[in-house]
Amino acid sequence: MIWPRVPVLCYHRIEQPPAHAPRDTNFVTPEQFAEQVAMLASWGCTGVTVRDVARWQRGEMTLPPRAIALTFDDAYDSVVTAAIPTLAQHGWPCTVYAVSHQVGGSNVWDAAAPRATLLDAAALRTLAAAGHEIGSHSRHHRRITTLTDRERQDELAGSRLELEARLGSAVTSFAFPYGTHDRPSLRALSEAGYTSGGTLKRWANARGGNPLRMGRMGIGGPIPTWQVAAKLVKLMVTPSRA
Ligand SMILES: [Zn+2]
Repeated sequence: MIWPRVPVLCYHRIEQPPAHAPRDTNFVTPEQFAEQVAMLASWGCTGVTVRDVARWQRGEMTLPPRAIALTFDDAYDSVVTAAIPTLAQHGWPCTVYAVSHQVGGSNVWDAAAPRATLLDAAALRTLAAAGHEIGSHSRHHRRITTLTDRERQDELAGSRLELEARLGSAVTSFAFPYGTHDRPSLRALSEAGYTSGGTLKRWANARGGNPLRMGRMGIGGPIPTWQVAAKLVKLMVTPSRA
């Protein structure tokens, strides 16, 4: 069976959730993550980067049948300790969105969440060298839709420059903090030189669709694998509006 559109999954922390917040949606346990990737592989899926999904949408390349992009927002340390070893077993690349002002820092924007350290520049460079994509998740993790023109430009273009300087390679993918975006932010995204914008819109992405408004489905909760399967099936039959 042909898989007509490309789903993009959005993960955060691949860790055991804290005892006081067992249903924190930022968490998927390492065991659940491994099970989810194994399920996708057994379906004949192949992991690809968001950069390639955007190129495929623009008709610039083909993708393997049943391509799927796994993405990780905020660039938590647990991406490297828990997710990458699982992905490596399948030879799948992924896309990690880093907050450029907090590279090697912590999730200071989220006062209510348990503190967590974020990947430093050396770790991001190692990921990129291994074929993974590093994208931008803004400079300070601010809600882009609440900013002035100048602030918006600083968060979009500024984070790209900051990350590129630390990585020594091009950054072309962006994920909107909290998934929020509007017309001015989409325009600014394109002006800042990005080729894709990750939202939290619930659709799988079609060839010919607009990659600046890429649909992504959040996975967290933690969530049993059968529920991920059910969500994916629903996603694939939901029309894309990008
Ligand atoms: Zn985030």
